[in-house]
Amino acid sequence: MKRIAILGATGSIGRSTLDLVEAAPERFEVTALTAATSVAQLAEDARRTRARLAVIADEARLGELRDALAGSGIAAAAGEGALAEAATSADLVIAAIVGTAGLAPVMAAVRAGKTIGLANKEALVSAGALMMDEARRTGATLLPVDSEHNAIFQCLAGQDCDRVSRLILTASGGPFRTFSAEQMATVTPAEAVAHPNWSMGAKISVDSASMMNKGLELIEAHHLFALPEDRIDILVHPQSVIHSLVEYADGSMLAQLGSPDMRVPIGHILAYPERMATAARRLDLLQVARLDFEAPDPVRFPALKLAREALKRGGAAPLTLNAANEIAVEAFLAGHIHFPAIAALVETLLTAMDRPLPQTIPEVLALDAEVRDAARARLGDFAA
Ligand code: NAD
Ligand code: MG
Repeated sequence: MKRIAILGATGSIGRSTLDLVEAAPERFEVTALTAATSVAQLAEDARRTRARLAVIADEARLGELRDALAGSGIAAAAGEGALAEAATSADLVIAAIVGTAGLAPVMAAVRAGKTIGLANKEALVSAGALMMDEARRTGATLLPVDSEHNAIFQCLAGQDCDRVSRLILTASGGPFRTFSAEQMATVTPAEAVAHPNWSMGAKISVDSASMMNKGLELIEAHHLFALPEDRIDILVHPQSVIHSLVEYADGSMLAQLGSPDMRVPIGHILAYPERMATAARRLDLLQVARLDFEAPDPVRFPALKLAREALKRGGAAPLTLNAANEIAVEAFLAGHIHFPAIAALVETLLTAMDRPLPQTIPEVLALDAEVRDAARARLGDFAA
């Protein structure tokens, strides 16, 4: 029996994880589930999976959660300490909170030397060096849930990157791949979250539309696989059939393929090093018939270039990129700024702030809050 905790159980990745875990009760036992605010869903999931602990991030809702779990024997808790407790309660922690909100719980798991199935890429982007150093110190293992990184992990087949000449991250290009710059100026939040291939949470859907997602994934790949930025390429592949590739020194290229369904990479990590059945649709290559590839367009998708520059610059630039992006995406989804202003706001913050990477997580979180405040203060300059 593998003991599993799911941070962000009520989200898109969290629900897919629950699907897989509940379909294989002989393999998995749920220790803890967490959510931001959805008490009813969290309590229902905790009862169904017989979790030992349910954690609501919003402390004001603890009473509500206690009521919803009354008589179940499941412990109810709230707040930061409880999130850390959930993160260290299992053999395998699926980190599926969105944004830097997931950083402290992921670090708690790293500090405790746990195995972490990482979906929450923003945590690694903000504090990559700190997290990887700490993982080396404690023996914690970060296993990639993100489909591209999971593909690379599968292609590496347990080897490190010594004989790898480059990684190629594929990108669908998102819903605006074929839009002109003029068309992109007036897209709505509803259009941005309607991804052609994947069904995901709102924030990552907007990131996919701006290609900031691929920028964050570039930084994520750099940390996970310890390769420099100039050995990680991005390739637009609209069918999302090849999830990424590894090129070896001898010229061999290995790719991982599958239908675009997160249950495949999540299932890979849940069962790792074994394999488990999933209900994901099998890939029918005859039906796919062709695979297309394009270079990303740096003019219509400036976010990708910003992320690469932030990674090259180092220090706190990736943290700044991520925090400014979180504020920009929130403002775009609320209708306060137009779509192109997301990258413009991020660029403004990257230009305005140049800090070294803080040495501790509280300092990282303080700087993250400072960038967010600075980004909010500039939103007016980009008002829709
Ligand atoms: P989502 O918005 O659907 O779910 C987010 C989860 O995090 C929810 O359970 C929510 O309750 C919780 N949460 C949000 N804010 C929180 C806070 N302040 N404190 C504690 N919990 C909070 O997001 P998602 O699409 O499932 O994505 C989750 C993470 O996985 C993101 O980092 C995303 O980039 C990554 N990811 C997602 C996909 C996908 O297909 N959805 C693919 C690859 C990577
Ligand atoms: Mg991805």
